[in-house]
Amino acid sequence: MLSQNQIFASGTRDLADLPLAEAVDSASLISAGDALALAFLGLLAGCMALERRRPCLRGSLAAVKASYKFNLITFLLNDFTLSLLSLPALYLAAESFRGLGLLGGMEDGALKFLTCFLLLDLTMYAWHYAMHHNDGLWMFHRVHHDDACLNVTTGLRFHTGEMCLETLTRAAFIVGVGVDSGTVLACQGVISLFVLMHHANLRLPGEQWLSWIFIVPRLHRVHHSTLRAEHDSNYGAVFSFWDRLFGTLKELEPAAIGLPPNGARGFVAILRDGLHTLAAAKGPAPVPVRANRDRHRPR
Ligand SMILES: [Zn+2]
Repeated sequence: MLSQNQIFASGTRDLADLPLAEAVDSASLISAGDALALAFLGLLAGCMALERRRPCLRGSLAAVKASYKFNLITFLLNDFTLSLLSLPALYLAAESFRGLGLLGGMEDGALKFLTCFLLLDLTMYAWHYAMHHNDGLWMFHRVHHDDACLNVTTGLRFHTGEMCLETLTRAAFIVGVGVDSGTVLACQGVISLFVLMHHANLRLPGEQWLSWIFIVPRLHRVHHSTLRAEHDSNYGAVFSFWDRLFGTLKELEPAAIGLPPNGARGFVAILRDGLHTLAAAKGPAPVPVRANRDRHRPR
């Protein structure tokens, strides 16, 4: 999924950068951002260590290293690009219109935060669903699914175009729901932790039970199946009940991970693939995305 982790990369720093933090409550906002950043790095390092000792799916060490390298570079590149474009400033602009939003009249507090968290998770579910069912959005999102070696860093692997569009979606969320940008960034930070966790190549204790409420690795592996009929499922980021409610939940172990063709196409080629200019690479002429995807439908 969600892909939706990435704002954390820029988001944690932006929590500290936002003028809003000075105007409202800079100390608590910055410390919340720092705490989320530490939790993010700790979870990333912890999952990587556990994946080496007890991976759920076995793969060659070279493939795992190549995946880590690609995904971490993508993560840093996106962080840099989004900061360069000052896209998070959109959140502040959106905030000035929040008075008419859904929760605009609600008092700030725990209830408002929890409601915002639920609504943001639902919005991310809908956004993820849209990326799988709209050919234009899939062009970007397929870069995330192109990792043949599912691991915790796959949760950092997103096309920059997808990140930009997702930032616009979050800005629209601030206007529509009527919350401040700091709250949305804090919610997104927590969602990012779940996104990292559910991409980990691990079996968690109690996954069977946890999956009634949360998206756990056991559920998210299906979402990275090679088969479209399988990867068009389990769109949730935090809660699995959205998928149960809308009939998109699947519980099975995929036979293969990634999107064909896999292999050593290189960093630039994969990102270019996301922009659908595969013709420039050595592969065959571009195929319409829908037709290309339908190739993977079971007959
Ligand atoms: Zn997806």
